[in-house]
Amino acid sequence: MIALPKELIASLTNIKGFNKEAFEQVHASGEQVTSIRLNPVKSRAPLPINQSTGQLVHQSAIPWCPYGYYLSQRPSFTFDPLFHAGTYYVQEASSMFLWEVLAQAIGNNTAGVKVLDLCAAPGGKSTLLASYFNDGLVVANEVIRSRAAVLAENITKWGSANTVVTNNDPKDFVELKGYFDVMIVDAPCSGSGLFRRDEDAIDEWSEENVVLCSQRQQRILADVYSTLKNDGLLVYSTCSYSKAEDEDILDWICATFSVESLVLHVKEEWGIIEVESDIHKAKGYRFYPYKLKGEGFFIAAFRKRDGETQDYRVQGLQKISKEEAIAAESFIKSGEMIFCSQAEKIIALPATYKTDVAILQKHLYLRQAGITVGALKGRDLVPEHALAMSTLVAENIPRIPLTKQQAIHYLQKKDIEPGNFDKGWALATYENVNLGWMKILHNRVNNYYPVEWRILKESIAG
Ligand code: SAM
Repeated sequence: MIALPKELIASLTNIKGFNKEAFEQVHASGEQVTSIRLNPVKSRAPLPINQSTGQLVHQSAIPWCPYGYYLSQRPSFTFDPLFHAGTYYVQEASSMFLWEVLAQAIGNNTAGVKVLDLCAAPGGKSTLLASYFNDGLVVANEVIRSRAAVLAENITKWGSANTVVTNNDPKDFVELKGYFDVMIVDAPCSGSGLFRRDEDAIDEWSEENVVLCSQRQQRILADVYSTLKNDGLLVYSTCSYSKAEDEDILDWICATFSVESLVLHVKEEWGIIEVESDIHKAKGYRFYPYKLKGEGFFIAAFRKRDGETQDYRVQGLQKISKEEAIAAESFIKSGEMIFCSQAEKIIALPATYKTDVAILQKHLYLRQAGITVGALKGRDLVPEHALAMSTLVAENIPRIPLTKQQAIHYLQKKDIEPGNFDKGWALATYENVNLGWMKILHNRVNNYYPVEWRILKESIAG
């Protein structure tokens, strides 16, 4: 029997939707819910299959996210090439409710929308945002450097050119007054919502930490609030059940800023509980695992009703040379991308966002922007993995379909048998989805899968 913190249970007693017996029972049950969200730009690929039976894992749709699916069991994601190819993201179902929040607050007006995901690693919400705002600009920020690396990996695999990854403290955004249309603060929290799937979180939980988290949440919001435009959308979420990190933060937001709380429509059958903050009656939405198929989660949305904007004067991005342009164009579908240079690599960006990326580059540490195409070696381009993960690769670049076994070997960075192929760069593919680059030489194939992302295990068992 899992021992849940008594102080937590006591603090939740009078909160709407809380049921002590059901709460304890759902934690004791050991039930695990597995869910994934498909990548719409790569979703021609099938859903995961059970590695031992070869059967498609039965799935059902998550009602608040059109690309979300529950899986009937947890397959070995490590041994599914489609997982590494970014065709889906393994994401907890309650958090996918962000999609519904956006659908209700923004609708289809996504073109040109600038979005900040402030606390972004490992990238669950950012990849959702990149799909939702496929013609907007998403800035995925993470303050902790090692976590920003994981975020960059997941964004790279997702393959969208409209995403920028930054590694900054919330304070660093102060120069970007009134810049963003949408801001997501998925705040660091005491984590009680994840107790069912991560028992270690129970040992780490304490009342003191709830207080510290609540103070930090206020500090983070205070640091970035001016970055949001007047009329912009602020979404605040946590995976904590504690009122001090949820409803009380909504009251703090209302007392500190000029905002309007948004009422969201939730269908009764979804099992989501609408709550209100004590003083300002701001609406929040609670997810309890005994009421729906998902973990503990809290989300609220506000419309900003004040704020200044600022004019930005920036120098353009660093141009690429003629040789670089010729080499890059030979790998890329012609379209609305522009090229620039960063740290001697060629970057492709949607033309509409070239000034924005220059603005962001002036004020923030850009870990990655758009799609890194590659770098010139002599007169030849050595393409980057990010290009293979994108949808930009020119049609005339050869694609080499691999079997499941070959795909796993490729992802383990093992040698691939040379087939009867033309020499030069080619994409390794599996089920029509790109896995990465190979270079076909006279008598061997060089495997260019990134060494740091390779599958380390030999087999599912080992
Ligand atoms: N949004 C992510 C997702 O959906 O995958 C999960 C974010 S997690 C709940 C909170 C993140 O905030 C963590 O990655 C953590 O490193 C980051 N963080 C921690 N302290 C922070 C701070 N002082 N300011 C901003 N972010 C912070």
